[in-house]
Amino acid sequence: MMADDKFYRARVTRREEFAPDLWMIRIQPGGEFKFAPGQYATLGIERDGKRTERPYSIVSAPFESEMEFFFELVPEGALTPRLFKLQPGDELLMRKIPKGKCTLDTESGRKHHLLVCTVTGVAPFVSFVRALAKDWKEGRFDGSHQLYLLNGASRPWEFGYKEELIRFDAELPWFKYVPTVSRPWDHADWPGEIGRADDVLRKYADHWELDATNTTAYLCGHPDMIANSKAILKRRGFVDRTAIKEEVYWIPAK
Ligand SMILES: Cc1cc2nc3c(=O)[nH]c(=O)nc-3n(C[C@H](O)[C@H](O)[C@H](O)COP(=O)(O)OP(=O)(O)OC[C@H]3O[C@@H](n4cnc5c(N)ncnc54)[C@H](O)[C@@H]3O)c2cc1C
Repeated sequence: MMADDKFYRARVTRREEFAPDLWMIRIQPGGEFKFAPGQYATLGIERDGKRTERPYSIVSAPFESEMEFFFELVPEGALTPRLFKLQPGDELLMRKIPKGKCTLDTESGRKHHLLVCTVTGVAPFVSFVRALAKDWKEGRFDGSHQLYLLNGASRPWEFGYKEELIRFDAELPWFKYVPTVSRPWDHADWPGEIGRADDVLRKYADHWELDATNTTAYLCGHPDMIANSKAILKRRGFVDRTAIKEEVYWIPAK
């Protein structure tokens, strides 16, 4: 594998499967990589002199020595079938510079943060909570920002980080977590919320008293969820350019 000065040769240290098409890896980046929670890295694989790269939100928090990513396999995709094969010890390329503006808004004065995502779109929000949880425990964060996470998936097994996020919800007074499943009919034992993330958005915004004066919204993952959620939020007054941050993971096929 070739790497030029724009890339690190990162090495996979761990791989864990959540479902047949959902998995995480941890990597040693191979050099210093400074990022803010909510940003993404550009990962790539080179074969026969041709490099294929895609952006991936970073799950881990900056204080962790390894970086973590949460992937969904797109069977006909150019990169994910290759990423899927990577095992501990294998190398991949990572651009040395992080990107993305889906970082926590501490500028606007709005202290509530409504985080809405589908499946792998939870990645940047796990990074927010891991980072803030550590700061809170070590006295660097006073709990004055409140995070509310609506995590949508079709099936219960698609939540890669549910257990960790439930633990954070129980532990942290400034964090609320609601996983919601849109196809619950095969899962009579699913105890949680039912509906797509955008279906339950109004209900939870009312319940948590989140409005455009006190809240910044972050939408991450499925393009339809983002379009629907944006329309709902705009009707509720989220019209300021900085009121909604988004990370659309792919463009729907026509
Ligand atoms: C800022 C940003 C952050 C991202 N973070 C993540 C992340 O954390 N984890 C992650 O898995 N992906 C993430 N993505 C998506 C990722 O960059 C790739 O697009 C995705 O992994 C598919 O790559 P591919 O080369 O396998 O498929 P491609 O060859 O790029 O795509 C093939 C076709 O599948 C469609 N498609 C792509 N992804 C999906 C999908 N998930 N479901 C259905 N159809 C799809 C495309 O529109 C295209 O028509 C992110 C995208 C952006 C823009």
